[in-house]
Amino acid sequence: MTKKERLNYIIDWFQKHMPNAETELHYENPYQLLVAVILSAQCTDKRVNIVTPPLFAKYPTPEDLAKGTTEDVYELIRSVSFANNKTSHLLGMAKMLVEEYNSEIPDTVEELVKLPGVGRKTANVITSVIFNQPHMAVDTHVFRVSARLGLTTNAKNVLQTEQQLVAQIPTHLIYIAHHWLILHGRYICVARRPKCEICGLRPACKFYQTDMKHVVTEELEPISAAEIAAGKNKK
Ligand code: SF4
Repeated sequence: MTKKERLNYIIDWFQKHMPNAETELHYENPYQLLVAVILSAQCTDKRVNIVTPPLFAKYPTPEDLAKGTTEDVYELIRSVSFANNKTSHLLGMAKMLVEEYNSEIPDTVEELVKLPGVGRKTANVITSVIFNQPHMAVDTHVFRVSARLGLTTNAKNVLQTEQQLVAQIPTHLIYIAHHWLILHGRYICVARRPKCEICGLRPACKFYQTDMKHVVTEELEPISAAEIAAGKNKK
């Protein structure tokens, strides 16, 4: 299979089985998504979704959060990883939004990364999800799944992965491809022992063809990450 054939196979499969992939973080406006993505660094979306309702109830706008105290914010987010750092990031981010951006979420990666707690990945998520820009946010799942599938070649870091993916995925699909790869990595192509036996991408996957095919004893009916997330996995 050529690289182009592999890409087409993967896109076809995802389009058929996960046509509506989207973030699992709960949010109702750009400010809430920004807060949720900052909280989600090295933490599960599930945990973030538990923490954010009371946080958004107490601080519904950047102005409200900017007036918050370290103690109060920490108390609300203490169960997420790195709660101390994230508390100061959230307060710093809100203050900067209010003071320098008129409480509006900036629409460029260059401006977003100036906000405390916002790195390139978070900025790519915001510009992609909120502003429909063709930016690929690469997290640990996207990095790993892309490499295993053979969509990237010798990518040494997330920036190289981002550049290689953006160069080959059609622009109008970059937004959803980000969610396909994250969800596939979260539910099927997991880090320690990928669930190749239920993966629909086996025929196109470089890692499966070279390393896993002889390990997998039974190839089962494929199931999508979306079906597993919806609780339809019987395996
Ligand atoms: S076949 Fe296995 S390694 Fe390849 S994408 Fe699927 S789960 Fe991951």
